[in-house]
Amino acid sequence: MKRKDFLKNTMLVAAGATGVLACGSEQQSGSGDAPNIISNKKYKWDMVTTWPPQFPVLGEAADLFADRLKKVTGGRVEIKVHGGGELVPALEAFDAVSSGTVQMGSGASYYWAGKSPATQFFCAVPFGMNAQQISAWMLGGDGYELWKEVYAKFNLVPFLGGNTGVQMGGWFNREIKTVADLKGLKMRIPGLAGKVLEKAGGAAILTPGSEIYMGLERGVIDATEWIGPYHDYKMGFHKVAKYYYTPGWHEPGAQLEFFINKGVHDALPKDIQAAIKAVSFEVQSWVLAEFDAQNGIYLEKLINEKGVQLRQFPKEVLDQLRIYTKEALNEIAAADPMSKKVYDSYQAFMKKVGKWSELTEKSYYNNIQVLDESFLG
Ligand code: CA
Repeated sequence: MKRKDFLKNTMLVAAGATGVLACGSEQQSGSGDAPNIISNKKYKWDMVTTWPPQFPVLGEAADLFADRLKKVTGGRVEIKVHGGGELVPALEAFDAVSSGTVQMGSGASYYWAGKSPATQFFCAVPFGMNAQQISAWMLGGDGYELWKEVYAKFNLVPFLGGNTGVQMGGWFNREIKTVADLKGLKMRIPGLAGKVLEKAGGAAILTPGSEIYMGLERGVIDATEWIGPYHDYKMGFHKVAKYYYTPGWHEPGAQLEFFINKGVHDALPKDIQAAIKAVSFEVQSWVLAEFDAQNGIYLEKLINEKGVQLRQFPKEVLDQLRIYTKEALNEIAAADPMSKKVYDSYQAFMKKVGKWSELTEKSYYNNIQVLDESFLG
């Protein structure tokens, strides 16, 4: 896809709904349905996403979910996937499914911080857990149960929808050598990390995906983060920014989601409920694998073909950002009991899993030579 088309489609915050809101319908072709009894009852749903149509990986994941669920249920569940803005504006997906206007949605839970600040902990926490650790918290700890508890208040059931893995730290036109270099920096950075940047004297700007490139080009923003080499390459940021920083301290693994209206979900036969769970696990695995596979290829392209200069945030900068992050998280937990409950679980789990990761993953990476040192400029 050409960059122009990609950007045109990158309407994370769409102006408004286009087209008539079509409610899904259920066709009754069997009778005497009850949970656990397989029937021929067919379900036709709409899925609204926060992603532009055919958006690489994220939009493809929504299509994969719909395709697989149709296959594993023998065609009993048919889902029509709508990109952000096609049926409802991208950031109204949560409300549309919560109210039952639409059966299902896909997005990232930190978009819903305005509904409940606790939602942010299920997506990405600066200096928090990575993809592998988040999966462990979700499935081996109580992360998923807490997520269900938070979403139940909004008449929603959440499902795992993939993870980006550790993101890149972003694109800059000046080098970040000390925390003072962040002062006055206008950076496109979402969520909790925005609060952290502000504590460092920067200005967090919430620029929709479609406007980032132009914002950087015209100096409306000085810097931006997005995802990683694959998506960032397609966005063309290397044309308007000089330095590409690592690591993505602000999003060490953004957990993505599907969510289904609770009334709709709970009325489903048990076998379809189980199929939904199984398909969500498949998508969870595929998204991370796809990002990892493509990011490696596109990182090479950025460096070798586009001459991008890689840089690493100095330890001093990361140490200070970590302190600001702790302050920001404590402020959120102090103001909202549900956030405190989730944050307590998150922290306790991270402490336990972190010791194991230090001894194994971290030790492994520290002791194998993946890259030539000169790679990081
Ligand atoms: Ca990001």
